[in-house]
Amino acid sequence: MAVIDTLTSQDSIALENQYGAQNYHPLPVVLSRGEGVYVWDVEGKKYYDFLSAYSAVNQGHCHPKIISALKDQAEKLTLTSRAFYNDMLGKYEKFATEFFGFDKLLPMNTGAEAVETAIKLARKWGYEKKGIPANQAKIIVCQNNFHGRTVTIISASNDPVATENFGPFTPGMVSIRYNDINALTEALKDEHVAAFLVEPIQGEAGVYVPDDNYIKEAYALCKSKNVLFIADEVQTGIARTGRLLATCGNCSCEDKNCSRTPDVKPDVLILGKAISGGVFPVSAVLANDDIMEVIRPGNHGSTFGGNPIACAVAMAALKVVKEEHLAQNAFELGNLFRSEMQKLIKETNLVRLVRGKGLLNAIVINDTEDSSTAWNICMALKENGLLAKPTHGNIIRFAPPLVMTKEQLLECVSIIRKTLLEFKN
Ligand SMILES: *Cc1c(COP(=O)(O)O)cnc(C)c1O
Repeated sequence: MAVIDTLTSQDSIALENQYGAQNYHPLPVVLSRGEGVYVWDVEGKKYYDFLSAYSAVNQGHCHPKIISALKDQAEKLTLTSRAFYNDMLGKYEKFATEFFGFDKLLPMNTGAEAVETAIKLARKWGYEKKGIPANQAKIIVCQNNFHGRTVTIISASNDPVATENFGPFTPGMVSIRYNDINALTEALKDEHVAAFLVEPIQGEAGVYVPDDNYIKEAYALCKSKNVLFIADEVQTGIARTGRLLATCGNCSCEDKNCSRTPDVKPDVLILGKAISGGVFPVSAVLANDDIMEVIRPGNHGSTFGGNPIACAVAMAALKVVKEEHLAQNAFELGNLFRSEMQKLIKETNLVRLVRGKGLLNAIVINDTEDSSTAWNICMALKENGLLAKPTHGNIIRFAPPLVMTKEQLLECVSIIRKTLLEFKN
């Protein structure tokens, strides 16, 4: 088959099946355009995007201000490598550190790279500042975590699909139960622990929201043991959960709901996905000087990390979050969405519960873990003009772009309602 300009959905899927590694199992829809909360397939059918590229497109598809920053910078300078300075990186680092309230930023490209960076930073800090004996540093992680796909990161995973036949694994990972303060207390008795790496809400695992005080107590425990608290906010960050950060500590967020949140400021903050509005691969590790200063020239790096396009795009994407009050909008629409889902749960046996924060939510389907009901519901939602994807078994994550209006959200609720009430397996 020749690669021609206009392919049908069937053609595109066939090409991927024939020429692409089969490392994903996508819903059979082929998208060719996006704008705001909408995407269109190649046949012109319009959908609400209820995944937002796993919370990368929080600012909506092709946001004009972000795309304009991308185009402008692309015409001036794209990449210098860090062998030389460029006139965008310093500007961006000042902007982003002030935005999130940290002394320093280390720029990378993907979420996994930023997690790797945080692990390296924590180990080096552990040896040089805490005095852990050489090569004995441990990182505490939580069961059912998702931090990315590199060998070191999957060494912290207990998902058999992600780990089987990829060994040998990186040592030094201690896995404990999520949302279990006693387990953390126990694990912290080991003096070789450098850091606790945690997601404020476990997104991939099925949007597991921990108890209200879990993150706050975990943070306090880490402090008492001189252990770094590393927040992986690649998915929960950038306004997704109704505040700028799910751990929202001493940041510059003007969201009035912040006063009701636990006051946690991670020692190390990991960001990715929506820091660029899904326009360009941009990730970052933020920390204060006393921690970041252990990284010296030659210790770590990335050819593309901190490139001028990434810097321009990320600044534009973060400005949009503030200008359009996306944290506030996610907070309000999230409350509305969950209360509408609660009503729906009373009308159907198909859904067991809804949970989440802001616009990071999931419904749990009333069926066995290995059933295909959640997948089939997503297929029916697709037919009715809304795209969502099951995560880990019988759970469907709902994470629309944060630029959604109340009217649009209510239309989505009615699509979900109609689909579930009419659904036959
Ligand atoms: C997506 C994600 C990552 C990995 O990001 P990539 O850009 O896919 O490497 C890490 N942590 C969390 C919590 C994520 O959701």
